[in-house]
Amino acid sequence: MADIIQLLPDHVANQIAAGEVVQRPASVVKELIENAIDADATVIKLIIKDAGKTLIQVIDNGKGMSVTDARLSFERHATSKIKAAEDLFNLHTKGFRGEALASIAAIAHVELKTKQSQDEVGTHLKIEGSEVMSQEVVVTPNGTSISVKNLFYNIPARRNFLKSTTVETRHIIDEFHRVTLAHPNIEFSLYNNGSELFHLPISNYRQRLVNTFGNKTNEKLVPVEEETEVLKISGFVVKPEFAKKTRGEQFFFVNNRFIKSSYLNHSVNAAFDGLLRPHTHASYFLYLTVDPKSIDINIHPTKTEIKFDDEHTLYAILRSAVKHSLGQFNIAPVLDFERDKNLDTPYSYQQKTGQAPMVEVDRAFNPFREEKVSSNTGQSFKKDLTNGWESLYVGLESKSNTGSNDFSELHFESDDEAPSMFNDDVKDAQKTFQLKNKYIINTIKSGMLVIDQHRAHQRVLYEVH
Ligand code: ADP
Ligand code: MG
Repeated sequence: MADIIQLLPDHVANQIAAGEVVQRPASVVKELIENAIDADATVIKLIIKDAGKTLIQVIDNGKGMSVTDARLSFERHATSKIKAAEDLFNLHTKGFRGEALASIAAIAHVELKTKQSQDEVGTHLKIEGSEVMSQEVVVTPNGTSISVKNLFYNIPARRNFLKSTTVETRHIIDEFHRVTLAHPNIEFSLYNNGSELFHLPISNYRQRLVNTFGNKTNEKLVPVEEETEVLKISGFVVKPEFAKKTRGEQFFFVNNRFIKSSYLNHSVNAAFDGLLRPHTHASYFLYLTVDPKSIDINIHPTKTEIKFDDEHTLYAILRSAVKHSLGQFNIAPVLDFERDKNLDTPYSYQQKTGQAPMVEVDRAFNPFREEKVSSNTGQSFKKDLTNGWESLYVGLESKSNTGSNDFSELHFESDDEAPSMFNDDVKDAQKTFQLKNKYIINTIKSGMLVIDQHRAHQRVLYEVH
């Protein structure tokens, strides 16, 4: 039987590759912006029309391409970013597979204008369905502009499969954020159907988040910082009270590349355990830096999944770092030695169960009976009060008796001097005077004690019940 195997023509191979790399307009956006970042651009502009179905254009001020490179860049496996297989494990660029431009050019109308700073003029290329339609010299600024029109024009099934404009625009914005949040040192803008949706000036990570998601974001962020031998973590988690019902803002970046990882997501959720309301999800923006040798990015054509050498360790470090941050910012209940101890319940009352105050009515009370003379009233009040004090310090007395030498324990109480003061003075109770029906004046070992009797009464009632 005759041989039946043949090599696929390039444009067919490219179309097949495009099936993996370009799922929707947002995939084109991702690849083009990543190329601009790899070209060391400091200003990147994204222009879309009709959710990218009509136009996706990325303009950068990066290093541009020579004439030959401009032509080569659309060939499959044409890349300037790696040279040998070993380089795959020491990646410092976003791209490396050399197939994005080839794939995109296979399924759309692509126009490229590019110029390097040392050149007078640039190159203008038009490619449709992998076929070069024209190549011209052009006057253009330093950098590169690539526009992609009529995506999937030659694959109707794919085009029909696209979702509504709203949904596809959403995907583009998500993809835009995934790159812009990782690169606050680059200025980005996004124009949708002629109007500016985002303008993100050069800033720091926190400011980039605020510029992206709005001013209110700032107060919601809790910083996370951790550095170990294998992993450096920085970034933010959103305070649990702002957790959302949808899994919107969950971002992991590994060496500045957005990645998806349900395993690491699980680790962050474990740190949030018990802090979230039911059916809400933690939001986070976490930047992990690891040795490029310890990860494999080349396990998926879109490079959003990564294989880590030591996932378990990363999981543990990440969980504890997030937990620590949540704790440090008083969001999770933890031991906090800087807390104001005066606000704590005294030890002797901690074990007491709450008791509802009793309303006592003096059934023998007769408003028409003659009032007692005022000194008597004072006397009886004083008696009540003394009783109240005794009961108030019962717990403390026994406590200080049991651990008589343990002064550190007593220092937790705001009024730890009180018990000994009154124990000494019970025998001197007779030396108590009342002033203006308002103050009780008592002598104690070290001098004189003035008590506002109304406030003391309140305190006694409060402590006893
Ligand atoms: P990869 O990014 O994996 O190398 P691409 O197909 O995305 O593959 O790009 C091919 C090559 O084209 C890149 O390696 C780079 O040299 C060049 N290139 C693409 N976009 C740009 C750009 N915006 N500025 C400068 N060079 C670019
Ligand atoms: Mg690329």
